[in-house]
Amino acid sequence: MLSRVTKLKDFTRLVCSTGNLLNHSRNISTSSVIMSGEKFSLPDRFGGGEKSVWVEYIQLALDYKPLNLGQGFPDFAAPDYVCKALSEVAIGPDVLLNQYTRGFGHPRLVNALSKLYSKLVGRNINANTEVLVTAGAYEALFSTILGHVDKGDEVIIIEPFFDCYDPMVRMAGGTPRFIPLRPSKKDGVISSSDWVLDEKELTALFNEKTKAIIVNTPHNPLGKVFNIKELEMIANLCKKFNVMCISDEVYEWLVYKPHKHIRMATLPGMWERTITIGSAGKTFSVTGWKTGWAYGPENLMKNLQVVHQNCVYTCNTTIQEAVGRGFELELNRLDSPECYFYSLPAELESKRDFMAKFLTDVGMNPTIPEGGYFMVADWSKLANKVDLSKETDKYKDYRFTKYMTKNVGLQGIPPSAFYSEGNKNLAEDYVRYCFIKKDENLQKAAEILQNWSKSKL
Ligand code: PMP
Ligand code: GLN
Repeated sequence: MLSRVTKLKDFTRLVCSTGNLLNHSRNISTSSVIMSGEKFSLPDRFGGGEKSVWVEYIQLALDYKPLNLGQGFPDFAAPDYVCKALSEVAIGPDVLLNQYTRGFGHPRLVNALSKLYSKLVGRNINANTEVLVTAGAYEALFSTILGHVDKGDEVIIIEPFFDCYDPMVRMAGGTPRFIPLRPSKKDGVISSSDWVLDEKELTALFNEKTKAIIVNTPHNPLGKVFNIKELEMIANLCKKFNVMCISDEVYEWLVYKPHKHIRMATLPGMWERTITIGSAGKTFSVTGWKTGWAYGPENLMKNLQVVHQNCVYTCNTTIQEAVGRGFELELNRLDSPECYFYSLPAELESKRDFMAKFLTDVGMNPTIPEGGYFMVADWSKLANKVDLSKETDKYKDYRFTKYMTKNVGLQGIPPSAFYSEGNKNLAEDYVRYCFIKKDENLQKAAEILQNWSKSKL
């Protein structure tokens, strides 16, 4: 033990809380030892991923107990039948449903997913080779990016973007190339469809090093539902430059009339080059179940399987069985308005409209989302209502959201978390609020903001 410690000394500083290291060598593996120094610093490939808006803002919510419209999750019950299925599975007669299941996805769930997406994509999707169940959409993104992106590869990321895309690409050794969606107007009623990509700017990012583009539709945080023209523009570039598309469609069912979600994999020539990602958390309002999936052509899916089998290997059996049963039920009523995939967005539409109204009434300028359950609003006209001098963050939206959490009792998310360093300034006037909440909580949020907007500093 001592000789190993002596060797480590060149690289490491061992600190004993009670003094002399030698006198305490017997306790070397106890918590009184802190290993630090170069040797134990974060590997470079994770650099830039240290700061997480979720870690910071979930802690803030615990500390200050604001009304939480920050992290996206419903504050109301998930559909009965999935929760019942889970409890029945856990105590049911088939005790093996509490044991490990097939690594690439529990048979009942992959079969249901293949049935559903075969229908939606219009081709026969093989349950065993073209679907992978993952620990949330997060792991689907991780397995896709780590399984495909290599050193020297470039990946195009559209800003604002779900924040883990950037560190995952870097972790894989790739280089993210960013392009912002820009609002085509700043005043009046703004829809998420007003946030657009510049075709020339996008075309200029494609080159022989481009491995993939990540598209998120419906979009977090803007709620943009990419239309056919926009998807075709991206698809044509993918085909021209032999690039794959990572299509994050976790909000695929949360689309407001008259808009329609279009799956990238359904565009001509795109199935072959698209990995599509989904989430049971969003589909059945059970974000805590952390179950997701990826589907796509077998040759591309193979790489994801390798990452998955050497990292998570297999996901929670009980939850997969319950989600599988949930899909079976919905598959039987896909043409009925009672299907949860249609009843949930119908319910959310009035929540969206209520939020848009109260944000507008207090003087913010919201972007009306076509999909998803977030709303981004420009708060800059209310800058005289906040004293940001005590907050030390570099970007104004962080200072604003922290001030509001601590002093006004309402939490939102700073959208600059969804931008690359060079473009974070584009988001400083905005805040993101989540509206998949009980009506009474949205009403409370409205009152909090009304009282605040009438108050004097
Ligand atoms: N992608 C997007 C766009 C998201 O908003 C989320 C939300 N968590 C995820 C992926 C990850 O989903 P999950 O909770 O299933 O890991
Ligand atoms: N997708 C959710 C959001 O954007 C949850 C994020 C998370 O858990 N990291 O709020």
